[in-house]
Amino acid sequence: MENLNYYLHDDPRMSLAWAPWFSHEYIAYFSVQAVDSLMALPPVPVKRNPQYGNKVWPVGPKHIDLYKESCRELRRLDPLWSFDYKKRNSDYADEPPSGKTIEPWKALVIYSTEPDLYPDYDLYLHKNQKITGGSHGWRHMQFRILGMTFGIAPQSFRVHTKLAALAFENGNDYWGWRYLSRCAHYLADLGHPFHVKALPGSFLIKKIFSRHDLFKIVSAMHQSYEVYVERRFREGFEPFKEALLRGAREGHDAGTDVESRLPDYIKRAEEKHNPLFYYFLDEFGRELLDAFDQMDPNSQLDAAAQTNRCSADAAKVIFKATNLPRLDYLDKITSGILFDVGRMLGMLLGRFSDRKMQEMSATLSPQGKKESIS
Ligand SMILES: [Zn+2]
Repeated sequence: MENLNYYLHDDPRMSLAWAPWFSHEYIAYFSVQAVDSLMALPPVPVKRNPQYGNKVWPVGPKHIDLYKESCRELRRLDPLWSFDYKKRNSDYADEPPSGKTIEPWKALVIYSTEPDLYPDYDLYLHKNQKITGGSHGWRHMQFRILGMTFGIAPQSFRVHTKLAALAFENGNDYWGWRYLSRCAHYLADLGHPFHVKALPGSFLIKKIFSRHDLFKIVSAMHQSYEVYVERRFREGFEPFKEALLRGAREGHDAGTDVESRLPDYIKRAEEKHNPLFYYFLDEFGRELLDAFDQMDPNSQLDAAAQTNRCSADAAKVIFKATNLPRLDYLDKITSGILFDVGRMLGMLLGRFSDRKMQEMSATLSPQGKKESIS
């Protein structure tokens, strides 16, 4: 690919009806731009969800498949102060619109936040799921505490690789890309330090007798990091764009399979957890924790819903003028993390799109490549 002149929110190929944009969408966007075969694929017709695997992989009771190919624009939200995936500039159709098509790369971007909406909420998956904040966290995280493992994010990734392959095999390319978009979401989560480690071991020992404090601080540090990354993307921060593009290009070229790289990938993310955790705690301290005062472990609300309300307050602290010099360290470590994430996504998405390309050229010219040369 040549130089990319856009940063998602200013890309004229992407409708403002889909904005504001969130971190997962930026990550998917830069990763797809680095895979030429993916960008070249023609649009596919929108189809109904084939509902594969609902028995083995149940979907949250509140989930509805929305079709962003058909939308009604209602408002222009301020991206810097938008923290809820559900609130966008438009309402979207809840039935597959007839006669619509979409480019695979766009589908990969606009559906990448879907796994954080309802498909993983309100399920009973495991007796220990409360420690990850409920069934959603259970499917989006995996970490160890005192020798025990919590969460099943690698399984979420694997299940969705299979669902994508199944949809393609059965001629439903549209859902092939949508399942792959979900799959890439879980893969990105596995490269996120706060999804593969909950808290530093020494910190657990220190706070073991005050569970309220522990819950609040751990959620606050995690959410602060989300707020920081998302805000950087929305500002059009160049190093993040470069890191993802470089990573995805390298991952695609490497041509190895994602599965064999997964353990090292998770381990590298895990190693970056303690430095990030303590940096937020030490550099922003009390002021940042105060932004999360509304957190309550006994609330009926899911942890994610509670933390969302605190995001705006946290952003004000982290991006306060006097705190800006402190972001340097976070920028460097995060660029490294995003390079890694891009590399895995480039590997995953490139494998699917290269295969699709080969299939298409085989159907176009049954005698193989010779025909196009003569
Ligand atoms: Zn997630």
